[in-house]
Amino acid sequence: MFSRILIANRGEIALRIIRAAKEMGVETVAVYSEADKGAAYLDFADEKVCIGPGPAAQSYLNIAAIIAAAEVANVDAIHPGYGFLAENAHFNEVCRSCKIEFIGPSVEAMQLLGDKVACKQLAIKMKVPVFPGSKGKITKEEKAVEIAEEIGYPVIVKASAGGGGRGMRVAHNDIALRSGLRSAMTEAEAAFGDGSVYIEKFLEHARHVEVQVIGDKHGNAVHLYERDCTMQRRHQKLIEEAPCPVIDQEERDQLCEAAARLIQAAKYHGAATVEFLLDPQTDSFYLLEVNTRVQVEHPVTEMITGVDILKTMIEVSAGEPLPFAQDDIELTGHAIECRINAEDPDRNFTPQPGLLEVFSPPGGLGVRMDTHAYAGYRIPPNYDSMIAKLIVHAEDREKARWRMQRALSEFRVGPIATTIGLHRRLLNHSAVVNNDTDIHFVERLLGG
Ligand code: ADP
Repeated sequence: MFSRILIANRGEIALRIIRAAKEMGVETVAVYSEADKGAAYLDFADEKVCIGPGPAAQSYLNIAAIIAAAEVANVDAIHPGYGFLAENAHFNEVCRSCKIEFIGPSVEAMQLLGDKVACKQLAIKMKVPVFPGSKGKITKEEKAVEIAEEIGYPVIVKASAGGGGRGMRVAHNDIALRSGLRSAMTEAEAAFGDGSVYIEKFLEHARHVEVQVIGDKHGNAVHLYERDCTMQRRHQKLIEEAPCPVIDQEERDQLCEAAARLIQAAKYHGAATVEFLLDPQTDSFYLLEVNTRVQVEHPVTEMITGVDILKTMIEVSAGEPLPFAQDDIELTGHAIECRINAEDPDRNFTPQPGLLEVFSPPGGLGVRMDTHAYAGYRIPPNYDSMIAKLIVHAEDREKARWRMQRALSEFRVGPIATTIGLHRRLLNHSAVVNNDTDIHFVERLLGG
C-alpha cells in the first residue's frame, strides 16, 4: 500500500480523499492555491503545499507545480479527484514518467475511452448499446447528409475529443447539418486541437442514466449499479439519485453488465462512469460517453452499495485486487444527492462568492454531508460554485425524498444565496415525484 499520496484538487473532493486515505493509514499531502489559503480542510492533511496563484491555470492545472510538490513531499501516488487534471492524459503520462502512481486508469485506457469515436467502436464490439449514427469520424458533408437521411433527423454533430458540451450541434435538416458540421469542426479544432467529429441520432426527450464501474489491474471489473441524473440545468447536474427509478431489474442488469464489459475490454483500472441516455418511450439505452474519473455524485452509489469508492480506487491503484466480486454487491434502499451551489437561481444562477456568515448543515438519521464549507468560510471567486453535497439514504425513493425535504428545511446558509430553495421546489414538483421528467425539465420549468 502507498504510504503517502498527494491530492491534486481542492474543496469537498480533496476532503473526501483525505478522509478515505486516513481510514487506510495513508498519509496525505494537500495542495492549495493562494485563493484557498486558510481553507479549513487543508488542516486535515498531513502536509500542505502552496502551488500558485488563484487562477486554476496557474495552480490546480499547473502540472509542473503539482509534480514539483509531489517530488518535494516524496509521495507514492497522486489522486486527481474530478475536474482540473483528472482526465488529462498528458498529466497521467507525466506522473508515469516521474514514477508517481496516478490514481486512475492507465494512460492508454484513458486515451481510448476519452476518444469518443474509439470508445463507441469498442462499445459496438462489446455489444453495449450506442446511438445509430456514423461508424467513425466524418470528414465529408455528403457522407454526413447520407447518414442523417438514413437514421432520420434530428441528428447531433459531436466532437470526438469533445468535453463540456463544446463542438456539439443539433440539426433538424440538411442545411443545418452542413453548417453545423463546419462550425462544430472549427470549434473542436480550436478547443481540443482535434477537429474530427461524428454524428448520431438526437434524442429529444431523454433521461440521463449512468453506471458506476470499477476495475483492478488483474482484469476484474465490477459495476456498482446505476445513478439517475436527469435533473440538470444546461448540462450541469443538480440532483442525482440511485437506483434509477424508471427501470426494472432486467433492464438494470443488462445496462450495468454492458458497462462493466466495456471497461473490462478497455483493460481499465480505477473508477469510471459509463453514461447513457434513456429513451423513456421505448426503454432503450444509448451510450453517451465514459468518464474516466470519480464523479461528484459518487456518494449516492456508496449509500446504496456500502462500497467506499475512494478507498477502493486507492487500493486498486496500489495493485490490490478488487476486494469484492460482482455477486457481493447488493443494492439497498434509495439515495438522493442535492448539489448545494453558491448561486442565485433568481438571478440566472450567478455565482455568489464571499463570506458565509451562517452555515448550519442538517444531520440526523440517513443524512450525509460532504462539504468543506463552514461558518466563516470565504468562498473564493475562482472556482466551481458547489459548496456542499447533501446526500440522504432511506428504504425507498419516496422515503428518501421526504428525508431530503426534511434535511433541506434544516439547512441554514447566509447571507450567500444558494440552490437550497430550488431543490425544495424541485423535489416537491409532481413531475419529479412521478418521474415524469427529462434532461430539459428544469430549463423548461425555469424558462430557459
Ligand atoms: P460532453 O463530453 O461535451 O459533455 P456528452 O456526449 O456528454 O458531451 O453530451 C453532453 C450532453 O449533450 C448530454 O448530457 C446530453 O444532454 C446532450 N446529448 C449528447 N448526445 C445526445 C444525443 N444523441 N441525443 C440527445 N442529447 C444528447
